Formats: sequence, C-alpha cells, structure tokens
Amino acid sequence: MQKEEVKEKIAEEEFRNTISIVKSDGKRKWIYPKKPKGRFYTARNIFSIFLLAVLFGLPFIKIDGHPFMLLNILERKFIIFGILFVPQDFYLFGLVMIALFVSLFLVTAVYGRIFCGWFCPQTIFLEMVFRKIEYLIEGDYLRQIALEKSEWNAEKIFKKTLKYIVFFGLSFVISNIFLSYIIGIDELWKIINEPVSQHLTGFISILIFTGIFYFIFAWFREQACTLVCPYGRLQSVLLDKNSIVIAYDSVRGEPRGKAKDKKSLNLGDCIDCKLCVAVCPTGIDIRNGTQLECVNCTACIDACDDVMDKINRDRGLIRYDSMEAILNKSRLKITPRIIGYSTVLLILIAVISVLFALRKDIDISVLRTPGMLYQEMPEDKVSNLYNIKIVNKTFKEMPVEFRLSNMEGEIKLIGQAITLKPLEIYEGSMLLILSKKNIKMTNTPVKIDAVSGNENIGSIESSFLGPQSRKQE
Ligand code: SF4
Ligand code: SF4
Repeated sequence: MQKEEVKEKIAEEEFRNTISIVKSDGKRKWIYPKKPKGRFYTARNIFSIFLLAVLFGLPFIKIDGHPFMLLNILERKFIIFGILFVPQDFYLFGLVMIALFVSLFLVTAVYGRIFCGWFCPQTIFLEMVFRKIEYLIEGDYLRQIALEKSEWNAEKIFKKTLKYIVFFGLSFVISNIFLSYIIGIDELWKIINEPVSQHLTGFISILIFTGIFYFIFAWFREQACTLVCPYGRLQSVLLDKNSIVIAYDSVRGEPRGKAKDKKSLNLGDCIDCKLCVAVCPTGIDIRNGTQLECVNCTACIDACDDVMDKINRDRGLIRYDSMEAILNKSRLKITPRIIGYSTVLLILIAVISVLFALRKDIDISVLRTPGMLYQEMPEDKVSNLYNIKIVNKTFKEMPVEFRLSNMEGEIKLIGQAITLKPLEIYEGSMLLILSKKNIKMTNTPVKIDAVSGNENIGSIESSFLGPQSRKQE
C-alpha cells in the first residue's frame, strides 16, 4: 500500500462502535495491562509522588492556626490558599470555577487529555498507587491472568486476600484525607481520637468514603474514565485534528508487519508486536486513532520507544503530536477555537482580578427598613429605622459600632452592642434620630461610618426620611 493510500485510509477512518472494556456479549472485559517502563513512566512517577505529597500534605498546613485549604461544603465555608470565602463570595467562587473549566477546555484543545494522564487523581491513584501494589503482590500481567484462571489454592487465597486488605487500608487512608479537606484536620483528629459514639456521623462518613474508594480502585477502575467521567465523554467536541494527543504515526508505521519482512515487503516501522496494546490500562489499540478511552497515560509511547530502540528505528512512532502534523506535517496552528477560549479566559481572569481586589473582609449593609416612614420622637426629634447586615469574613472577633459622620444625630442599636464572632453573619436593626431643625428635605442624605476599635471598617451612604417630605407631598 502506498503512503498516499494510507493517508486516505486514516482520513476516512470510522469511529469505533465498540468500547474496549465490554465483550461482545455485553459483559465486562477485565483489563490486565503489562507493567509499563520507560522515560515517560519515570517522569510520571516523579510527578505523581509530588502531587500525592501535595494532596496528603495540604490539610496539615495551617496559617495562624487556620487551615490553608478547606472545602467545607456542609457549612459553605471555603479556605483556598489561606483566603477565606463565605457564601457572600460565591459569585467569585463561581467565576473561578468557570475560569478553571475554560482553562481545561483551552488546555484540552491544545494538548488533548494531558490532565487525565498527569494530574487526575483517579489516574494517579489507580495507575501509580493501586496498580503498583497489584504488580507487587500478583506480579506482571501474565502472572495476574494465570492467577485469575488458577484454582483457589493457598497462593491465590493469600495473594488475593493480601491485595484486597491493602486496597481497603489505602482506601481508608484516602477517605480520611478526603474528609480532612471537608471538615479540617482538627475535626478529623477528634473523630479518630475520641469515642465513636461522640462522632457517629463522621465515623459513618469515613466508612462510606472508604467503601466508595475501595469500590472505584479495586473493582470499577478504568470504567470511571470511560463510562462515567463527563470530561472524558466531552473529548469528541473538545479535540480537533490540531490538538496534540498521544498518537500513532500511521504514515510512518503502516503498513505494519514483522521486522524480518520489512525490506522485502516495503513495510512501515510498526512491527505489529502489540506491546502498545498490552500496556494500555484501558485496553485500546492506539493505532486505531484517538479514542474516547485513551487517558493519555503515555504507557504506549514508552512501550513503542523500547521496541524502536531494539529494531534500530527512531523513537516516536507513538508520540505526543497532532493528527494534522502526522498526516500533513504541519506544526501547531492557532485555531479560532484556541483564540476563542483564550479570549474568554483572559476576560474572566481580568474580571476575577478586579472583583478580588475590591473584595472586603467585612461586608456591611445599612438599609432603611422597607415600608417604614419616620417616627416622631420627644424633644422635636424624628427617627428612621434601618436594617443592618454585617458579614465577618475574617477569623477575628470584631466589635462594631456605627457613627453618623456628616451631621449631628444619634444612633441607637436595637438590642445589645455588636460583637461579631469569626465568620459570623449579624442581622439587626438600629434607629437613626435627627433633630427636626436638621431636616431640610424629603430625603436627607446621611453618611454612617462603621467602626471597629479605632478603625473605620466601612462607610455607608443612605438617606433619612423626614417630615419635610410630607409637607412637600
Ligand atoms: S508497540 Fe509500536 S511497533 Fe509494536 S505494535 Fe505498537 S506501534 Fe507497532
Ligand atoms: S492508548 Fe496509550 S496513552 Fe492512551 S490509555 Fe492506552 S496506553 Fe495510555
């Protein structure tokens, strides 16, 4: 077959209508990937250790006694890199989430599923932790298959029991770490150290999470990526032929055939050893083109590079590249899609930066109570009722008082003096009392300063409704 014909064949290639992890009878096909080795695998190992250290270490880091990272969805309290976000900041939080999604779309449009292979906790835990334990206990893929097919003898019982106990123990540890992101390490420590009866909900949560992680990593595995993960399902719309993916160079590799026949039959570089298929944790053949199941783990690159070294060919028959580059030798193009995602992302970053710069540690609102007119008071005075709302977004206790700053008058809180606890939202009322002689118009503008100690923590501009307005009406 001529290379031109190969190009045509690749261009016309149909999407597959089956998935690798399901047999023709509809049952699950269990994947036993060969243990990978090579430069990409080594790099991923080092990077995974770093990410795992970050993931396991972050809940223990504190600043001024407060967590550096906390995602308490139960109390809607989030601390990200030491900055506290409360429900009133959700617009900011929502925008940051949108920006993260757009970044992911942009990275995917340019570099394909690089996130899946290098950053995703599912891939890291499955391939870099659980799979390694499996290799350690049961051996490489051929020994695993043999063990699976063997009778239940002492060796099989021992290895399977040991593996699943270790898997359960690890799931338990991951569950604890996961929970520490939600409730904080101090609360988790209490659940661990104090009697179960005092922390029944927490204890049950740990068990439930342990069960979920055990189910995912011991049994469900790659199905999380191929059947459940929405990001994986979106690949067909996020990628195009200019995206850099893990790709087989069909122009160079085809027609495939055994090494000994290469010269006589004018074959391509692929010797059809199928080692790229053997190492694939999702059971696909990357030579069929980019597929939904590919999590960009790089195992097939390493396997094929090793083969190319052995047959004295250049590495990179399977490599990070775009289909456009492979078929037409063109380099990375800045496509309208990339420009679009980048523009949206830049706008979002600008908006978030401005909102972040304007964000205050204390939110104060003082609004005249709706539906209320003024009240006549003794000594020729008039009062207006105001609703107060103060959100303390700090970890400090904060006494707050109000002072009228643009004219003479008196402020009377209804209830006790205000002292906000850390993260507290205060809602109350106050009366603003002015002498009639100071009221010159329907709505007298008033400026109220909120003071904590000697520090002015906010100035609110409002209006005062007085008898003058009734005269005008
Ligand atoms: S590992 Fe390389 S040479 Fe072997 S089948 Fe896969 S692509 Fe061909
Ligand atoms: S095709 Fe290659 S990169 Fe994709 S999942 Fe399989 S081994 Fe990993």
